Amino acid sequence: MAQNILFLAHVSEAGSTLPKISYEVLGAALKLRQQTGARLTLGLIGANVEAAAETIAGCGAERILAVTGPDFATSRYASDAAAAEALCRAAAADLILAPATSRFIRVLAGVAHRLNGCVDTHVTSLDVVSGEMCATRWYYRQRIEGVIRRDARPWIVLLESGCGVPWAGVAAKATIEEIPVTLPEAGRRTVVTGIRAPMSDAQTIRPDAGLLFVAGAGWTKKQADGKPHVDQAETLILDFLRVSGASLGGSKSLVDQSGESQAVLHFMTHLNQVGQTGSTPRHPKGLSTCCHGEEPHVVGWRFINERRAVNLDPNCGWARGKADVLYVADAFEVMAKLNALFRQSDGGQHSHETVDQLA
Ligand SMILES: Cc1cc2nc3c(=O)[nH]c(=O)nc-3n(C[C@H](O)[C@H](O)[C@H](O)COP(=O)(O)OP(=O)(O)OC[C@H]3O[C@@H](n4cnc5c(N)ncnc54)[C@H](O)[C@@H]3O)c2cc1C
Repeated sequence: MAQNILFLAHVSEAGSTLPKISYEVLGAALKLRQQTGARLTLGLIGANVEAAAETIAGCGAERILAVTGPDFATSRYASDAAAAEALCRAAAADLILAPATSRFIRVLAGVAHRLNGCVDTHVTSLDVVSGEMCATRWYYRQRIEGVIRRDARPWIVLLESGCGVPWAGVAAKATIEEIPVTLPEAGRRTVVTGIRAPMSDAQTIRPDAGLLFVAGAGWTKKQADGKPHVDQAETLILDFLRVSGASLGGSKSLVDQSGESQAVLHFMTHLNQVGQTGSTPRHPKGLSTCCHGEEPHVVGWRFINERRAVNLDPNCGWARGKADVLYVADAFEVMAKLNALFRQSDGGQHSHETVDQLA
């Protein structure tokens, strides 16, 4: 059982807050503190953590520790590992909870090794069961849920996003204890000179989106006039992503087409593939279009709470209990009308209601 829990986080790129997932991890840390009676320390890393610390200072943790300074502004293995190690030691933590951000995923296994402890990644929940701390995570493409107990301490646990209730208390003044970390010269060898990333609206995979929009191979097949309309499909789908803010998924048949020299949607890659051999994204709602809804695809929808599909075929897989609502309709027509309605309305969270208007 834990005596000292450390909630470990780094500031967001904007610098004034923590990455969204951190607030879920803090919610989990507070729940565990209540269950175990352990002390809770907050440990923060960043160039300047004051503003971010204030967003969580009201949670009632015993201490707030920080490693700060220009050396800790951006993601870099040497400085992040040194900072995380120093915070874990200063808090005398036996359980360390951290968000599974890319910045932490690359560094915390090494920190666990330096502390002679252990680490678990992709954890979805942490609970006390029969007096023992248990972490859960999924294996084998989200089909088997494993429960992990560890004797080794300290135990670093990286929690996945979208699995817990975020802490949402009010901001408060933060009293921060600075933990000094002196980097060796070799720790400064890597210098981040800037970040090159696609525009956020060019990024089609959006884990925080309220809606998953799935395109299937039907978008590239011959339509009623005997011809494919791939250009039109591209425009309709990109317009929808723009107005709705949805995340884009694809069926295997569609994403495989580029390798088969067939007509393709240019923005669709294997990263978009949802299903048994693809991803299992988490979104409150999903809308499938021109996709048959076969089992190997739909198995990737297990964390989509409300499912709707548009298909010409009333006998498609979605009709067999896999979707809450199946619209038997031409997706080209539906999406054109949907986009027009979106432009008139407030967009965002209302895509299912907007589809309903068309039904
Ligand atoms: C081991 C294994 C692993 C697999 N893993 C995955 C996986 O991870 N993900 C995955 O997706 N698949 C996977 N598959 C493949 C899967 O079984 C299906 O073959 C695939 O999902 C079919 O893709 P689709 O529905 O887009 O294409 P199709 O089966 O070709 O269906 C196209 C659909 O579009 C509809 N349509 C056409 N035009 C229109 C229109 N104008 N309006 C509305 N509807 C229209 C048609 O009615 C049809 O239902 C796997 C298969 C195997 C064997």
